[in-house]
Amino acid sequence: MPTKYLFFTGGVVSSVGKGVTAAAIGLLLKERGLKVAVQKLDPYINVDPGTMSPYQHGEVYVLDDGAETDLDLGHYERFIDIRLNRVCNVTTGQVYAEVIAKERRGDYLGGTIQVIPHITNEIKHRIGLVAKTTGAEIVLVEVGGTVGDIESQPFLEALRQMRNEVGRENVFFVHVTWLPYIGATGELKTKPTQHSVAELRSIGIAPNMIIARSDYAVGDELIDKIALFCDVEKRAVVPMITTSVLYEVPLLLEQADVGDYLVERLGLKATKKPNWKPWAKLVNEVRRPKPTVKVALVGKYVELHDAYMSVREALKHAALSIGVEVEIGWVHATDLEKGKGWEIVKGANGIVVPGGFGSRGIEGKILAAKYARVNKVPYLGLCLGMQVMVVEFARNVLGYKDANSTEFDRSTTHAVIDLMREQRAITDMGGTMRLGLYPCVLQPGTKTAKAYGIPKVDERHRHRFELNNAYRGEFEKAKMVFSGISPDGKLVEIAEIADHPYMVGSQFHPEFLSRPMRPHPLFLGLMKAAKERSEK
Ligand code: GLN
Repeated sequence: MPTKYLFFTGGVVSSVGKGVTAAAIGLLLKERGLKVAVQKLDPYINVDPGTMSPYQHGEVYVLDDGAETDLDLGHYERFIDIRLNRVCNVTTGQVYAEVIAKERRGDYLGGTIQVIPHITNEIKHRIGLVAKTTGAEIVLVEVGGTVGDIESQPFLEALRQMRNEVGRENVFFVHVTWLPYIGATGELKTKPTQHSVAELRSIGIAPNMIIARSDYAVGDELIDKIALFCDVEKRAVVPMITTSVLYEVPLLLEQADVGDYLVERLGLKATKKPNWKPWAKLVNEVRRPKPTVKVALVGKYVELHDAYMSVREALKHAALSIGVEVEIGWVHATDLEKGKGWEIVKGANGIVVPGGFGSRGIEGKILAAKYARVNKVPYLGLCLGMQVMVVEFARNVLGYKDANSTEFDRSTTHAVIDLMREQRAITDMGGTMRLGLYPCVLQPGTKTAKAYGIPKVDERHRHRFELNNAYRGEFEKAKMVFSGISPDGKLVEIAEIADHPYMVGSQFHPEFLSRPMRPHPLFLGLMKAAKERSEK
């Protein structure tokens, strides 16, 4: 069977959950026994989001192969429970970089390089790679931004061309829009949806399905109207009302018959009946009133929760699995330095210090780690959070007052966290960190080994600095335990404090592998310890 393509475009406004919708539809198809993969096309000119400020872009989501990608890939992986690869996130920057490199090599034999066909060919080539590298039967492709953006035009043009090249019967366009609510008249409006469909049509794309997002119930007459004016079948107009439970979206789309409709329209062969029991149970569990466990998240970009999307989800997954509700207290690390924000830290039964770069807020994070260690508050350090845990220990337990990471103090006499040897000669910022999956051997008898229950794990990394091996012996003598080590013994991957209920730091990012139905062991360890403390 030829590869089938589902293309997702957005209309009216951004941030209406196009990524979650694509992820949820991917799950509807996977639940029917079909092999899916999802790709995001990002219209910005950065090669990847790795060099972008989290304020601009939210979290950078890291894949097994080390690709630094858009946070929507986190939605895809979490909802569908799949592992994606580097070709699943394409940016304008990547496309142009490749075309220009080919031009410089002389590959185009004197041709004039143009958006059509050279840029669009490169885009189509990259879309084609998804099925080739993942073996997916159905490739879902989400175009970032909204229709009408100058930046996304070459992507849409490429999709339009693909429809003819792979056959109309193999391509299906889903357009996700927004129905604004007019308070004065108390009605939802379809006009912006009509305009965005008109815009799509002007570039040669007629949507096959319209998912109309709304904060209010959508009446039948509105559905008729959208079907009529936007020229789609009534069955293919899907109202999607805002839900407070993210993981309910697949259930809502299933109820709206989207799964069966797509199977029918794309001529797919479902090999099994979807089993929504686990999802329904999960959603019920989210809704059920549960005891609350407070966790303080001490970070740098805390006003933008999207910057910690996977961390937040991982905390929720772990909390749900033990029947509690996690309430995250967002704390600015810099506030702690000024004596502010401590009421949140002190009111919490767990502390998370997530990843980060640069010196802003570092001392505040070190104070949070000290508070956790001294007061025996469950602590999970993620990458930078592990490094500050090590620095704090060196300063206050080993007594090296100026201990630091050389990322923040180049002239420290106790560089307990230092640049990795392989990183020393690197000057480029983009894509040059230790990225992606690396193995880690767990040390028997440790809290970490107990949490995982297996002897060896592979986890996703994104960092340049590491624990300085020269200090390993001293740390161990003072009862810091290196519970996860690279197989060659050279890199400390996980550290924990022996005399503490749960103080664990990992050099990798466990949040990227947490799934709704399979919470990550390190987050589970934290939440269990935090729950225990909250019950005392
Ligand atoms: N800045 C630190 C490093 O590069 C930590 C990175 C992170 O938290 N992802 O090693």
